[in-house]
Amino acid sequence: MAVTVNLFAMAQRQFDAAAERLGLDETMHELLRWPLREMQVTLPVRMDDGGTRIFRAFRVQYNDARGPCKGGIRFHPQENLDTIRALAAWMTWKTAVVDIPLGGAKGGVICNPKQMSERELERLSRAYVRRIGRVLGEDVDVPAPDVYTTAQIMAWMLDEYEVTHGGGHRPGMITGKPIPLGGSLGRTDATARGGCIVLREAATALGLDTQGASVAIQGFGNAGQYAALLAQELLGCKVIAVSDTSGGIVNEGGMAPELLIKHKLETGAVSGFPDAEPISNANLLELPVDILFVAALENAITEQNAPRIRARLSCELANGPQTPEADQIVHEKGIFFIPDCLANAGGVTASYFEMVQNQSSYYWTAERANEELDRKMTTAFHQVYECARAEKVHMRLAAHMIAVRRVAEAVRLRGWV
Ligand code: GLU
Repeated sequence: MAVTVNLFAMAQRQFDAAAERLGLDETMHELLRWPLREMQVTLPVRMDDGGTRIFRAFRVQYNDARGPCKGGIRFHPQENLDTIRALAAWMTWKTAVVDIPLGGAKGGVICNPKQMSERELERLSRAYVRRIGRVLGEDVDVPAPDVYTTAQIMAWMLDEYEVTHGGGHRPGMITGKPIPLGGSLGRTDATARGGCIVLREAATALGLDTQGASVAIQGFGNAGQYAALLAQELLGCKVIAVSDTSGGIVNEGGMAPELLIKHKLETGAVSGFPDAEPISNANLLELPVDILFVAALENAITEQNAPRIRARLSCELANGPQTPEADQIVHEKGIFFIPDCLANAGGVTASYFEMVQNQSSYYWTAERANEELDRKMTTAFHQVYECARAEKVHMRLAAHMIAVRRVAEAVRLRGWV
């Protein structure tokens, strides 16, 4: 039987562990356990058949002591408030781990974008901003893409926001935009690139040669696809297995990432890729590979399958893919895992670069964006790794300790507590 986990309860447990280890006082502990502000709205949207459908949507602003709230918007059928709260908390810790001057937020709409037309998605995106726009803004809360939301959706949201806020250009109110509307070069592959950078540092620290190292990737959306390309290009790895919601495929000899992406684009799934054997999502996670990218949704690794994970190194490109019980099991097995709030922080770091460029109206080259990303991610990795060694804890607890300490310091300086 699958384990069901309330993600916000899980995020609070992770936070409690860090707060207790840091000896946070009771008031600070209570403040940081909860979001500062939550919005729930109901969106009537005209559908192509002429009827109107009602969608439920959310925006949770977890904490803005260090800067404007920041975090993506998900379009997903299984969305709920507690999931968004957890994701908003993780954004708060994530921006603090990589030490960018932003807080944490997350938004979501309960919908199935795979069953909606382009025009319906546009109307839904605009409806979301009409309702939530009053709590957004470049100095308040800045959304971005997340699960099943795209640069095009960001463009519609930007346009709706500008039209409903006086008509002036405000590109910094949202990130992950298309390049002609003020997007940043390097943003599209930044989540995976950031993951590969911390993986490179982790491999060096652990004495693992990434040249020819075997890689399995669970989840083949934006992060998973670029992880396949960049793990090969930057680290010399060999991608031997990938999966998506349709199932997985494996070929011990390795598969070309460009062909996998082409196949996925053409057929909508990785399954059916030539010269590969089918494998279930569950079995893919348990392959004895050097490197495992966990790049789908939350709760992929729980106490049930954790004992069977055999990768040497695991890199969490998804948010919340491993439960606290699984953390303990995986850690005790000697598997080195790079937690989500560090491993996938490249996305929000590139979003921050996008905001900086929007503010100055001066746009960087891709080389500069990638170099700055490398610096940020490398520094963050070593701070977390040193903390993990000094405190003798796993990387997630170390990352949370660093983040919670930074957020608490900002809260204290503001005199909130
Ligand atoms: N959705 C991404 C994340 O979970 C990026 C958020 C952002 O760029 O604001 O980190």
